[in-house]
Amino acid sequence: MKNLHGKVALITGSTSGIGLAVAHKLASQGTRVVIHGLLAQKDGELICRELAEHTGGTASYHRADLRNPEEISALIGGVSEDAGEIDILINNAGVQHVSPIQDFAVECWNDMLAVNLSAPFHTIRLCVPAMKKKGWGRIVNVASISGLRGRAEKPGYNATKHGLIGLTKSVALELAGYDITCNALCPGWALTPIVQKQIESFSKKNGMDFPTATRELVSLRQPSGRLVKVEHLASLVMFLCSDEAAEVRGAAWTMDGGTTAQ
Ligand code: NAD
Repeated sequence: MKNLHGKVALITGSTSGIGLAVAHKLASQGTRVVIHGLLAQKDGELICRELAEHTGGTASYHRADLRNPEEISALIGGVSEDAGEIDILINNAGVQHVSPIQDFAVECWNDMLAVNLSAPFHTIRLCVPAMKKKGWGRIVNVASISGLRGRAEKPGYNATKHGLIGLTKSVALELAGYDITCNALCPGWALTPIVQKQIESFSKKNGMDFPTATRELVSLRQPSGRLVKVEHLASLVMFLCSDEAAEVRGAAWTMDGGTTAQ
């Protein structure tokens, strides 16, 4: 995809999982990738070197705790100074916590709102002026099928991911007159650190080993019986960032092994 060459892309929460796969995919297209996360600088830089070796592309690392709006402002300012103003913003960082509502820790609720919903609000509001100036921009918010349907004991995740899809639609409509799009990606289950924790707790609760617990859970949740591959999610994100996707606006695009078709 020629149009991605030389563009600057910030991918939040990209030291692992879906975000890292997106970073690899965009870097392989010649995009200047900015990896972000909570790791120490030297560990983040190691991930950038590995990415450069695998893709032949370039990446830099910025650390910021997305619970803190001041750190988000510093992140966007720092990226713009180092790599250039952001053309592609992938709001991927997210946290998960599963608990009955009566026991749901207030701190977890506040962290989920901050990371899953308020952080994308801040990054978008801070990136849109430069995108408007350049006349081009792509925003992809990594939501979830939990943004489209409910599940017991996930009040924080369901609320924030539904909210993120609402934010996506509003921003997409506001920017519909520009070559700036805003879309949401709604993955089903993919094996990443967030899901690993859920499978581990299911396997402990049911006295199963990890592979059996994975098979059981996935076949319960996903009609395909298979996990979604992070590389496939990254390809969809790459498409949403392309010129060909210019009129995909405000979509909540699923890749979920058929889950939401049920
Ligand atoms: P992951 O754990 O690899 O990624 C989450 C990232 O968010 C990590 O890099 C983490 O450092 C970052 N993060 C968390 N709290 C942060 C904070 N306070 N400040 C800065 N960064 C913070 O897991 P993943 O599955 O790749 O998750 C990526 C996104 O995909 C999340 O938004 C998640 O909700 C969503 N998602 C994942 C799945 C799945 O099955 N894996 C399904 C649907 C949606």
